[in-house]
Amino acid sequence: MYLSVVVPCMNEEESLPYLVDRLVQAIEPYKDRAEILLVDDGSTDGTWAAIIKAQATCPQLRGLRMSSNRGHQIALTAGLEAARGARIFMLDADLQDPPELLADMMAMMDRGHDVVYGRRAERQGETLFKRATAHVFYRLLNAMSDVPIPKDTGDFRLVSRRALDAVLAMPEKARFIRGMFAWVGYSQIGIEYARAPRHMGETKYPFRKMLRFAIDAMTAFSTKPLKLATRLSFVSLGVAGLMMIYVFRSLILYQTAPGWASVVLAIAAFSGVQLLTLGILGEYIGRLYVEAKNRPLYFVAEESRTVVDASARLQTRA
Ligand code: UDP
Ligand code: MG
Repeated sequence: MYLSVVVPCMNEEESLPYLVDRLVQAIEPYKDRAEILLVDDGSTDGTWAAIIKAQATCPQLRGLRMSSNRGHQIALTAGLEAARGARIFMLDADLQDPPELLADMMAMMDRGHDVVYGRRAERQGETLFKRATAHVFYRLLNAMSDVPIPKDTGDFRLVSRRALDAVLAMPEKARFIRGMFAWVGYSQIGIEYARAPRHMGETKYPFRKMLRFAIDAMTAFSTKPLKLATRLSFVSLGVAGLMMIYVFRSLILYQTAPGWASVVLAIAAFSGVQLLTLGILGEYIGRLYVEAKNRPLYFVAEESRTVVDASARLQTRA
């Protein structure tokens, strides 16, 4: 097997036929040695049925159904673990990442790169809020992370078998896949593309999931937030010192010091700092807990693939 295409899908019933069409065209040059892995991440619509249906016309298609919704990064991991190709191409199901870029990515990999990632030069049809938060997120993440993580880059990429095996050898449960590929090393190169608007349906990343994803990424790639606690404590000790001078001065100069405002302010500021640092500790301890439990990341409920039998008839096995 030369090429594996991995696509996590959650409630992508409407985009699926278009996705399969465009993928089939994109993999045409390698079609006898390619597979398309669609991972149904606990969809509640007809995504799984659509996968089975598409298999009737596309023998390269393999379907993998998760036992329940595990999230984009875990679904992608499941697909990557099942992939058998020497080169692995991953993209979103909503056609925001153009499958046609595969040809250029393949050519770049031929020149010896192990990871060819797509960098979003522009993002059409996404809300200002999404673009702004993504912009801040990638820059903040880079300021904190110990390995440089390419900016404005999603999981849309083509990777070599050895790069993938390196990522799959990482046992962590909080998976930030684009960062894990960056950490692996080897020769990596970006290719710019215009990110199209979502083809159909709506985003599966509401603000809540985006925030979780961002906190996962930062805690997985940096211990700087932990050090922030120490720095904040220095700052608050400094401020407390200054306040002490002020309090003594007013004790000596005036008879009474009616300073309830400063007391309230001080309590608010210091308890704020304390809660923040406790929160940061909590995030890391929570992650240690999850890693320590060492549960499997996902379970596959069903696998469906087309087998070519001796008489070369196609049949779908579900
Ligand atoms: N996705 C998934 N599980 C989830 C959420 C999303 O498999 O819990 C898939 C989704 O079907 C899509 C990809 O992850 O193929 C990216 O999601 P989406 O396009 O909704 O994110 P956005 O582009 O809005 O950030
Ligand atoms: Mg999308």
